[in-house]
Amino acid sequence: MQNNDVARIFDQLADLLEIQGANAFRVRAYRNASRTIGNLTELVADIIADQSRSLQDLSSIGKDLAEKITTIVESGSLPQLDELKEQVPPGVVEMLNLPGIGPKKVAAIFHDLNVTTLDQLKEAAENGQVAALKGFGRKTEQSILENIDSVAEAGKRFYLAESKAEADAIVEGLLQLESVTQATVAGSCRRRKETVGDLDVLVTTTESGEPMDHLAEHDLVEKVLARGDTKQRVRLRSGIEMDLRVVPDESYGAAMQYFTGSKEHNIVMRRRAQERGLKLNEYGLYRNDDDIPVAGATEEDVYAKLDLPWIPPELREDRGEFERAEANNLPKLIETDDIRGDLHMHTTATDGTASIEEMALAAKKRGLKYIAITDHSKRVMMANGLDAKRLREHWEEIDRVNEEIKGIEILKGIELDILEDATLDLPDDVLAEADWVVAVLHYGLKQPRDQINKRLLTAICNPCVTAIGHMTGRIVSKRQGADVGFDEVFRAAADHGVMLEINAHPSRLDLDDIHAAAAKDLGIPIVINTDAHSTSGLDVMQYGVFQARRAGLMKGDVANTRTLAQFRKLLRTT
Ligand SMILES: [Zn+2]
Ligand SMILES: [Zn+2]
Repeated sequence: MQNNDVARIFDQLADLLEIQGANAFRVRAYRNASRTIGNLTELVADIIADQSRSLQDLSSIGKDLAEKITTIVESGSLPQLDELKEQVPPGVVEMLNLPGIGPKKVAAIFHDLNVTTLDQLKEAAENGQVAALKGFGRKTEQSILENIDSVAEAGKRFYLAESKAEADAIVEGLLQLESVTQATVAGSCRRRKETVGDLDVLVTTTESGEPMDHLAEHDLVEKVLARGDTKQRVRLRSGIEMDLRVVPDESYGAAMQYFTGSKEHNIVMRRRAQERGLKLNEYGLYRNDDDIPVAGATEEDVYAKLDLPWIPPELREDRGEFERAEANNLPKLIETDDIRGDLHMHTTATDGTASIEEMALAAKKRGLKYIAITDHSKRVMMANGLDAKRLREHWEEIDRVNEEIKGIEILKGIELDILEDATLDLPDDVLAEADWVVAVLHYGLKQPRDQINKRLLTAICNPCVTAIGHMTGRIVSKRQGADVGFDEVFRAAADHGVMLEINAHPSRLDLDDIHAAAAKDLGIPIVINTDAHSTSGLDVMQYGVFQARRAGLMKGDVANTRTLAQFRKLLRTT
């Protein structure tokens, strides 16, 4: 059981209690517990296992919470949560994903309108019933109508970070079984898409019962939904469903290829097979006339028989990978180990949970050679954003820490808000003292494209700005980003030598794969940053790298794969 699983259970508990109108103090206690566990750098299970230690030494964990954590870790669930889930319909919980709709509003929809599904909510909003609720109004109703379809769609998908962690843990467990010879995750998870609808896992085995029994008993599995001779479908505790398929050795590569997809990529693969007098399916590649197999045991064989090099899963979208493969021009994709620096992170000076020193040491431990501390500027009041005076003091502190810690360099940075009126949140004389300025949109994301572009161009044209962070401000599956006129903005970034960020946070991944590829085409250096708000937040770098791989980026396209000296040379000079 991972810390995030424990944290999620407390979050769900808090949401459900709040919808039920529970005491605010109790709700907050669970939220605090979730944050404490989520930010721990060691496994909570290890603390429980250690007789000499107590969970109650952790901040905001009392006796009752400590007992609950132990129950969760030991049994994988919490009876109290299961009870609450029976009282609050799942459709009501989904409403929490609507932007601007918290548990209190959901409670009003549920109790006052007696609405229990997103479909019913949409109908009620269309009839004006939602606006009439106390505390709602026209604007809220309008926002519900604008977002409800994408929330309904997203409800069926899960963040890659979460589903990949689950799939990896299960695959690792399967590989330890005596009978299992090979195991892999396939599907959109293997292609590293930002969200995953369900998980496909393939195994080869000498005894098909063993992996299925193992999965049925797995900590992460809530329920076995169906079991046949070669396929088992389960639902994980996180809600995502997983198919386990037992495939023969001689079909393993073909099955991997088939179940990894994408649909579009596989259409081209089948066409190439036909053109060569072959047919391709999940069992193998066969001669058309006599059904003699010609490949199937490995993916490499399948691709080779279709006159192609093996194509990395992240590129399998029929977006030019076949042309590049034919021209022997597939990119050597960037790897997480190529990353040397991380240029976007927060500390306790604003909304982070660790000090400059703790962040630097944690980054060093992860093998990084340089970081930029980029706390918020003053516009972000709820995060206690920095004004000029506090920022300069903060940078003095960075100088001091830099003196003390060897083996990692800390750049003096700022995450600078680009204000709604297209001015910058801090004056130029302060910005000029920074090593690194990542300018961002946080507010006014719904402004028209002209104004959004005006804001981004103001930042790009300011000689102190070195990068644009999370350009659209989108939250994957939850909030549409700003309507950016990418052509104009990218051209300006290229002209001025401003870097563009792929924000690695699993809910942002902004730029997305398509736009990151477009930026690469213009020769704009990309930086992949974690936007960490805690030391464990540094671990999301891989998801940004996955997004970069989907964009076809190579090591050389990503600025923070360079040494610090080389990186500095890429910084704008005008
Ligand atoms: Zn930000
Ligand atoms: Zn940030």
